[in-house]
Amino acid sequence: MSKFDVIVIGGGHNGLTTASILAKKGKKVLVVEKRNILGGIAAGEEFHPGYSTTGLLHDTSGVRSQVVKDLQLEKHGLDIKSNRANVTLLSKDGKSVSIQSDVNATVEAISEFSEKDAQAYSAYQEFLKKISKVINDLMENPPPNIDVENLTMGSLVVLAKKGMMLKGLGNKTMMELLKIAPMCVADFLNEKFETEFLKAGLAAPALYGSYAGPWSAYSTINLLLWESASKNHVIGGPQALIAALQKAAIQAGVEIRTGAEVEKILLDNEGKVEGVKLSGGEAIYASKVAASCTPKETFLNLFDNFQLEYELDYWIDKIRSRGTTAKVNLAINKTVELNGRITEFARTGNSFDEMEKAFDPVKYKQVTNAPYLDIHIPTHSNPSLAPEGHSVVSVLVHQIPYDFKKGWSVDAKKQLGEHVLKELEVYSPGFSKAVVGIEILSPTDFEERYSLTEGHIYHGEHFVDQLVTRPIPSCSRYKTPVSGLYLCGSGSHPGGGITCAPGSMAAIEIIK
Ligand SMILES: Cc1cc2nc3c(=O)[nH]c(=O)nc-3n(C[C@H](O)[C@H](O)[C@H](O)COP(=O)(O)OP(=O)(O)OC[C@H]3O[C@@H](n4cnc5c(N)ncnc54)[C@H](O)[C@@H]3O)c2cc1C
Repeated sequence: MSKFDVIVIGGGHNGLTTASILAKKGKKVLVVEKRNILGGIAAGEEFHPGYSTTGLLHDTSGVRSQVVKDLQLEKHGLDIKSNRANVTLLSKDGKSVSIQSDVNATVEAISEFSEKDAQAYSAYQEFLKKISKVINDLMENPPPNIDVENLTMGSLVVLAKKGMMLKGLGNKTMMELLKIAPMCVADFLNEKFETEFLKAGLAAPALYGSYAGPWSAYSTINLLLWESASKNHVIGGPQALIAALQKAAIQAGVEIRTGAEVEKILLDNEGKVEGVKLSGGEAIYASKVAASCTPKETFLNLFDNFQLEYELDYWIDKIRSRGTTAKVNLAINKTVELNGRITEFARTGNSFDEMEKAFDPVKYKQVTNAPYLDIHIPTHSNPSLAPEGHSVVSVLVHQIPYDFKKGWSVDAKKQLGEHVLKELEVYSPGFSKAVVGIEILSPTDFEERYSLTEGHIYHGEHFVDQLVTRPIPSCSRYKTPVSGLYLCGSGSHPGGGITCAPGSMAAIEIIK
């Protein structure tokens, strides 16, 4: 009977991070991944013969430098740049602007259409620079213990330090941060900028994956979190990160099994974790299990009914994870230009009005016919992903509800594909004629293929109540009320995105 110290459920980027850190500390670790490939949502896959993506997602700016260093990922082939990739914001009237990590270059680009916005952008970046230290301190450390009944001297010191950091911002910046945090992102950016498509494009990351429009309260927080954490850029995209993590895991001695779906987490007579049972019946034993699948998948599907305390089941069930993202992968027989530019990353949005209108139908379980898009053309930097001279256009489609009233039939997905092509035609006339292959994934496909509960891209919504004590108070520091069970995926602090952050912080908690 094989016995491991820790079994990690799921071989996405967080599961691999947890496993590698634990193995480097001398633990005997097994990763069990239900799909036949590693990487979870970050796995690169062929979607049409001869055309591949570098992963379902685009943005690798949040990958934590400390994890890259600790796991020596560069030695394992990772090429990571310490600046964000340029992203082009597109306007329907043919204008566009490249938001670059070089603030001066961006200011110059903005000044071509608005001197006022150029100055405002410079001030905005200054403000973000100041507050990102405080925000990153919160996001790059395990959440502080705020359980007043069990406060230790150590946790009081941590809380006091956080208060001091906030005070260290100075009165003006601190007051501004406290003022803007609960604001909706439209009000926040309307105070600063005048150009509609610039505001829409800057706000977009705050709304990705959210059940929110630009006029939803607290959406500014998501923008501040994203802006503060986004610093890097992985060459080769998410799949390149997965390749390096896999090598690091293997070198550290992690055992990896793909095509191995966990059906149940096993408990002994005292209710302590003793391993997992795979579908097919094989039992594998370990005194600790770290789950990188969603918290709902972990607690609601991997235990028998009534095996857990009622209160735990109840609160896990209440986690909001209403998926609002779809994906369209396009095989294109030419080089693609958007508003006359060749660009790898681009965003549409156009105006807050259009973004809010795209969100409105979501509330009524309907689908907009004018979604806004996050576009990645990976063949721009890696032509080998498609035949010579051809392109892959990977599109994240926002404000597409999981619980579409009519259901995600083949026809419904076809219609979604048509809406996306209609939008792309605006920025790239003749685009549709160049399509030689298309893959359309609805939020229900995400659930089926990647076990994302309700198709939510972050394993649970990023809303303020689900960020402070993520996913629920009793599990917010990776440890759970089930003895020996830990959470290590995007459902935990500091949340979703391709960051390696929950995976690395969970590993520290597991070793304690
Ligand atoms: C369409 C889409 C676009 C996104 N875009 C971006 C982006 O541009 N930038 C960004 O930063 N983030 C983005 N995200 C979010 C980000 O991808 C996720 O938050 C992150 O990748 C999740 O990583 P993870 O390791 O926590 O979990 P996952 O990648 O979900 O890995 C969990 C793994 O567990 C496995 N698993 C589940 N159940 C079981 C079981 N019972 N037994 C065994 N294995 C199991 C799954 O197969 C999966 O491999 C996007 C997500 C999606 C879906």
